Amino acid sequence: MAESSSSTFAHGPELPAPVNLLEYLPQEWEALLRSWGQPRFRALQVFRWIHQRAETDPEAMTDLPKALRQRLQEEGLRPLLAVAADHLAGDGTRKLLVEMHDGRQVETVLIPRGSVAAEDIYAPQELDDGEPSGAGQQAQLTQCISSQVGCAMGCAFCASGRAGLKRQMSAGEIVSQVLLARRLMPSDVRHGGVVFMGMGEPLHNYGAVARALCLLSHPEGLGMSLRRITVSTSGLVPEMDRLAADFKGRVQLAVSIHAGDSATRSTIMPINRKYDLDQVVAAMRRYPLLARKRLTIEYTLLSGVNDAVKDARQLAALLKGMRAKVNLIPMNSVSDSGFGAPAAEAVDRFQAQLRAAGVDTFVRRRKGDDIAAACGQLALHGEARKIRLPVRQ
Ligand code: SAH
Ligand code: SF4
Repeated sequence: MAESSSSTFAHGPELPAPVNLLEYLPQEWEALLRSWGQPRFRALQVFRWIHQRAETDPEAMTDLPKALRQRLQEEGLRPLLAVAADHLAGDGTRKLLVEMHDGRQVETVLIPRGSVAAEDIYAPQELDDGEPSGAGQQAQLTQCISSQVGCAMGCAFCASGRAGLKRQMSAGEIVSQVLLARRLMPSDVRHGGVVFMGMGEPLHNYGAVARALCLLSHPEGLGMSLRRITVSTSGLVPEMDRLAADFKGRVQLAVSIHAGDSATRSTIMPINRKYDLDQVVAAMRRYPLLARKRLTIEYTLLSGVNDAVKDARQLAALLKGMRAKVNLIPMNSVSDSGFGAPAAEAVDRFQAQLRAAGVDTFVRRRKGDDIAAACGQLALHGEARKIRLPVRQ
């Protein structure tokens, strides 16, 4: 393992030291392999096996000398996730419950472009920014990933929040969700994007998330454009600024607002007592947006709490002049939360009010087996049942 407590890369963020081999960046592999007496070129070879070919078992790295494969195994290079449950919805959305070495579980959701969920939730952001959408009509999917087991933020309507924070995920565990997806998906399907909208508050696990962003976007690895990665936050202001500084606005930012005024926001989001709505909106206005990009505002509609026309008016006023679009999410039920989704007419009224004020607004409608909007809720139900499915080799 690396000896320093942090690493700085040319023009990149300062990262905490890696905690498992799966999350080593090429420079770190170089230093480690040098200390094992290996030639320099092996560093990229190993990194590419892991992050380009999604191979995390040293035994399968057939062009490495046997002794090196053995050493990698001894030093602990191994898959970090097992699939505990695999659920395919009618529209092609695939939800995986994944288990880590300590038995903790989180979820990740694969959403093919063209599915109800993808059209409603993610496509507007991806399609409206003028970015090429990839090679012709190639099939694409967006993946929703988790960053923590549980969450410390305690939002009143969220299953992850009510469970509390169980533990942080390492960068290796975070990235492994994407590597696992690559192994499971047909080779002709392209990863169109990754969204940090699963379990956890990504900016409350900043170091691991920043390292994961570096790994996912590394040109010798998966090489995913940061523009196709969205970090969703409940509004941790210092970390929003840090993300802006570290990645120069290249990472897409989604902010969970959920209220038009600070007092209401405090009743459903305890974090608002630390960083209030004005501070969050100010941080959003400071975020260095790239050309043709805009911020995403997430607004979970709770009947009788934040769904009145006056709330929509207040929200529109907050967003005045900001390059942003709003995703309205009628609340997905969480048992015993005491909150529920508004009737369809109230949702329509809210959307109409925002649109009339010139704010681009989309509704994430939950239909039947549409499970994507319920990101973060499966793992909690799933902890009890342990169905172990083999990962396809
Ligand atoms: N912690 C981050 C990202 C994960 S949650 C955040 O809060 O932004 C992803 C989105 O799902 C957030 O906007 C969150 O507020 C929303 N969400 C959580 N529980 C929900 C529920 N029961 N119904 C609808 N949306 C919910
Ligand atoms: Fe955490 Fe996001 Fe859930 Fe709030 S909504 S408790 S920040 S996961």
